[in-house]
Amino acid sequence: MDKIAILCSGGDVSGMNPAIKRFVEYSFAKGMQPFFVYNGYEGLIDNNIREAHYEDVAGIMTRGGTKIRSARSIRFKDATYRAIAAKNLQDKGITKLIVLGGDGSFRGMERFYHESGISFCGIPSTIDNDINGTDYCLGVDTALNIIKNAIDSIRDTASSFRRAFVIETMGRDCGYLALVSAITSGAEVCLIPEIPIDITQYKGCFESQIRKGRDYFIAVVSEGLKNANEVAQWFEEELGFESRVSILGHLQRGGNPSVYDRLMAYKFVTHAIDALLEGKNNSVICYSKSHFNFKSIDEVALNPYRLDEELLNLGREQFAPSHCQM
Ligand code: ADP
Repeated sequence: MDKIAILCSGGDVSGMNPAIKRFVEYSFAKGMQPFFVYNGYEGLIDNNIREAHYEDVAGIMTRGGTKIRSARSIRFKDATYRAIAAKNLQDKGITKLIVLGGDGSFRGMERFYHESGISFCGIPSTIDNDINGTDYCLGVDTALNIIKNAIDSIRDTASSFRRAFVIETMGRDCGYLALVSAITSGAEVCLIPEIPIDITQYKGCFESQIRKGRDYFIAVVSEGLKNANEVAQWFEEELGFESRVSILGHLQRGGNPSVYDRLMAYKFVTHAIDALLEGKNNSVICYSKSHFNFKSIDEVALNPYRLDEELLNLGREQFAPSHCQM
């Protein structure tokens, strides 16, 4: 009987548990024995690898995070430890591995494949949505819905108290979460690395809006810019608006997986297992232009992710200070 394992590496996302559930069910359906590797690459090195059964995945569909936990592993960057990891898998007869993670994790897996011959398929999983070659990474939709709920709630209190709220979203150097959230929540300001805007250019327009009765502002800023406090200070000092900063932080990573993430988890895992069975040895399953396709590690990890130009143009148009409605 073929043996296949799954692990989560790097930051966890909501959608990993639905993926794990599908992995167990589909592996059995394809006549394979599934295994869990706990704690990412650390678990591979420490031989924290156990057989998976149907009952392990009962009831996990609704849970954020990952039942098999995730980790970053400094040791896995060292070939000596990767050799130990390979031996642990080989001793159990495991020849195939599915890795839920980001481009760093895939880079590590590629080395591992060349050294050990153990096949793998990567599933892009990060709320930052910053992996080159795929339009969608597992966890993004749930994160966007959490941000939407947070901004909607903040808007209620902002308008009751006549305040400016500066909301910082995650995304490292990628402005995807901030841009989509700003557009879909009707924010007045969106500051992301990909669209440089000088906030002082809004001054005349916002003063005019305040004179006409505007009683709150919502500004969404991406964590990569590290300027949330500065922006709040600008609202206080230049517009005389009491301001608050709200850093959404890790709550964006958790929560009940959205319908879309559950479905995408199922599709990603199904394609990944099919690919391994067809003999694809070291690829990443990507989703672009509404289709699934396989890419090499170089295609996803060598080049930095660039935000979709159509989305960027929407943002440039919507948030240009010159388009601000007086
Ligand atoms: P992500 O997968 O989200 O990009 P990281 O970049 O933190 O996250 O990588 C996750 C893990 O992948 C690291 O902790 C390390 O164990 C492994 N890894 C990353 N890059 C390499 C590499 N060049 N060689 C070996 N392992 C790597």
